[in-house]
Amino acid sequence: MPHPTSLAQRDHAVLWHPYTQMQTAPLPIPIVRGEGSWLIAEDGTRYLDAISSWWVNLHGHSHPAIAARVSEQLRTLEHVLFAGFTHPAAVELAEQLLALLPANQARVFYSDNGSTAVEVALKMVLQYFHNQGQPARRTFLCFQNSYHGDTFGAMAVSGRGAFTEPFWPLLFDVEFLDVPVPGHEAETLAQLDALLLRPDVAGFIFEPLVLGTAGMVMYEPEVLSEMLRRCYQAGVLCISDEVMTGFGRTGPLFASELLTEQPDIMCFSKGLTGGTLAMGLTTCAAQVYEAFLSHDKMRALFHGHSYTANPVACAAALASLELTRAEECTRQRQRIEAAHAAFRQEIKGQPGVRAVRHRGTVLAVEYDPGEGTSYFSRLRDAFYQLALDHHVVLRPLGNVVYLLPPYCTTNEELDLLYDVLRRMRHLVLDFTPAPNLPEILHD
Ligand SMILES: *Cc1c(COP(=O)(O)O)cnc(C)c1O
Repeated sequence: MPHPTSLAQRDHAVLWHPYTQMQTAPLPIPIVRGEGSWLIAEDGTRYLDAISSWWVNLHGHSHPAIAARVSEQLRTLEHVLFAGFTHPAAVELAEQLLALLPANQARVFYSDNGSTAVEVALKMVLQYFHNQGQPARRTFLCFQNSYHGDTFGAMAVSGRGAFTEPFWPLLFDVEFLDVPVPGHEAETLAQLDALLLRPDVAGFIFEPLVLGTAGMVMYEPEVLSEMLRRCYQAGVLCISDEVMTGFGRTGPLFASELLTEQPDIMCFSKGLTGGTLAMGLTTCAAQVYEAFLSHDKMRALFHGHSYTANPVACAAALASLELTRAEECTRQRQRIEAAHAAFRQEIKGQPGVRAVRHRGTVLAVEYDPGEGTSYFSRLRDAFYQLALDHHVVLRPLGNVVYLLPPYCTTNEELDLLYDVLRRMRHLVLDFTPAPNLPEILHD
């Protein structure tokens, strides 16, 4: 029997990775350490983490302040059930967050990832109307190509893409709106007006200002505020999914801060713990919460997870929040924003570049591979490899390559990233896809 030797080979023998065609994927890169914006591989190679390890990391890897708080919590209280019991970290985190969120947010409901935060939000909306004797209000509005997670409810309110096709027949019906990208606001508002005439619309869920998985598609706060205003006039609840945009990613602490209307419900995860531990939370306005108050036990929200409000995750979130609120973090985000803006000026309009989008610390370059879209996934693989060859971790979304770096990323490190984006432009200009390779899907 062959004896597996390297970590990657041992992995290959027993593991099944997310979003990965295991038959054709190359062996995974074994990472043994993280430090600042860098991931350090078993063989000593250092990789610059340009995407915050799937959008979760805020302040750099293995941050000592988060590590200290987590280890202290571990030695004090590692976990306690959260029905009938509470603990200091859960209360403190909720108090601190509510003080920072839009003023109408009044309650915090804990869960353990972004998809569950969305499931809780959807259930809050449906049961809100159910408790008020309006069960026919059960249709959600959402954006084409949006992404709200991989559980069934979250998939249902996400765009119908190739990844969820096997499950389409089981996803509940929703109504899709076009994203009101600049120049197309009127079309979306007209679609919304038509749908709001229907008596069955319950909620509108959106990724505020940046649709991440759709390819960092961006739209303006003014049109979103207008959409919320129209939803409220029709009695429809609005859910702001800040799982990606939360905790400073788009500039302000929360993208929803840029709106003139406040969402009824908000979802958080990813950066919530600074990228240290899995945690989700859903917050809501008093009006939503109050619809669940009754002498009737059956009006309660019957949702929970074993690790709801895990104290260690709460401790990580408190430590990360302290770092995020510090002036230094604001300066770091402004510095990254300015550097992105300068690079955008440089590369936009150049041959091979179709569009450049930028908001806060998120920069996306949409390359122009010429005719058609069928080569996107091969181009994507070529981009991915080019970045790795330059010791940079990126996960292109088709022909869109984005940077979403930890806030501690220095100007020198940003220059390395921009250099890779420049090289990608040359790659696009030289790109001739091999005709007979199988298409392999990646996210
Ligand atoms: C990643 C993401 C989710 C899902 O979060 P998971 O923790 O991966 O389940 C939901 N909404 C948005 C906007 C996201 O970016």
